[in-house]
Amino acid sequence: MKGTELSAARITAVDTYDIRFPTSRELDGSDAMNPDPDYSAAYVVLRTSAADGHEGHGFTFTIGRGNDVQVAAIDALAPYVVGRSVAELTADPGALSHTLIGDSQLRWLGPEKGAMHMAIGAVVNAVWDLAAKREGKPLWQLLADADPQWLVSQVDFRYIGDALTPDEALDLLTKGKQGARERATDLLRRGYPAYTTSPGWLGYSDEKLTRLAKEAVADGFTQIKLKVGADLQDDVRRCRTARAAIGPDIRMAIDANQRWDVAEAITWTNALAEYDPYWIEEPTSPDDILGHAAVRRGVHPVKVATGEHVQNRIVFKQLLQAGAIDVLQLDSARVAGVNENLAILLLAAKFGIPVCPHAGGVGLCELVQHLSMFDYVALSGTTDDRVIEYVDHLHQHFLAPVVIDQGHYKAPVEPGFSATMRQSSLDTYRYPDGVFWAADLEASNPEARA
Ligand SMILES: [Mg+2]
Repeated sequence: MKGTELSAARITAVDTYDIRFPTSRELDGSDAMNPDPDYSAAYVVLRTSAADGHEGHGFTFTIGRGNDVQVAAIDALAPYVVGRSVAELTADPGALSHTLIGDSQLRWLGPEKGAMHMAIGAVVNAVWDLAAKREGKPLWQLLADADPQWLVSQVDFRYIGDALTPDEALDLLTKGKQGARERATDLLRRGYPAYTTSPGWLGYSDEKLTRLAKEAVADGFTQIKLKVGADLQDDVRRCRTARAAIGPDIRMAIDANQRWDVAEAITWTNALAEYDPYWIEEPTSPDDILGHAAVRRGVHPVKVATGEHVQNRIVFKQLLQAGAIDVLQLDSARVAGVNENLAILLLAAKFGIPVCPHAGGVGLCELVQHLSMFDYVALSGTTDDRVIEYVDHLHQHFLAPVVIDQGHYKAPVEPGFSATMRQSSLDTYRYPDGVFWAADLEASNPEARA
């Protein structure tokens, strides 16, 4: 009876929300390219007729204006999802991903990049959230327990077959199963290593930088990150200040958020080299594969990292083939969701490059922890030189927020993808008619009141 009921269950609605947080007022998240971000989520809820009451939640991250464009992009995909069988959808999210990427008219807006591709990521991630809730497992565990053959079936090898074949992927995933049970136990006990960006925002004073950097070390972090790229003399002073605060043994990454041309990236990074930066992140355009390779040659031994704006598996493939990066920073909500991130994790494993995911924003920590934890338990099998970015912002809006303990992400145990926001947060920060924004807009323009 229950089985019949579940197999008949359908997706009844794809509800979207434009959620914006007024973070620009505190300079949280300020960097050389993004001086005043309002951290935002184009948020989607898949509702179903299933008696189990589970919903699928997903989102993409934006920094304010344009979140409405992102919501419209998700709305454009709804006809592919509404009315679908819940059981079929969650048994094969890759089939939906393939269909969404293949819409010939929407594909023209990319292909496989930009707002449409991020919208596909939100919907596909919501399906994975629903699948994990129905299985009663956190997503990392659902992936780690999955049959390698099935995982391979979830990857789109189009355009990456010259770097990674399905047979190679199967081999990597089969090898990844060896010792997986012990690593899952270890993960639940120890967590997954994190680093923190919280001390290093560009808008913070030297006093705040020093205080937060010392707190980070006291809290057990072994790596921090500083934003750079606006003013060289400021960067020299801030790197010296941070290095003095953390001592010689803590890693200090720097992040230019695409501020430089190639030659400038090399000179600027080398000018900071005496403070021993561990990696330079996003030195230049995320589309410039050969430029990253040149930067890497020019700043050695400083490592080169990128990925938060890399738009798909094909660009990651080329960064790896060109020897352009030392560290791959995938993002849970930039590409087309879990399926494409599986492809990217497999490419990184094939090339032996560590994955240190981008996170922060709103909800990106919550999502991406699952991908790294799966990678540790059942793919690369290691956390050596691997850390997930952590930023202490906006976690309170999630039903199951990340938990950081002694510089590690604790493994989530709640079923799902940790994507579900509190209803009160949705009601307060929905733009422009949520409680916060309605009051704020009225205060800034009282005459507009109807
Ligand atoms: Mg960054």
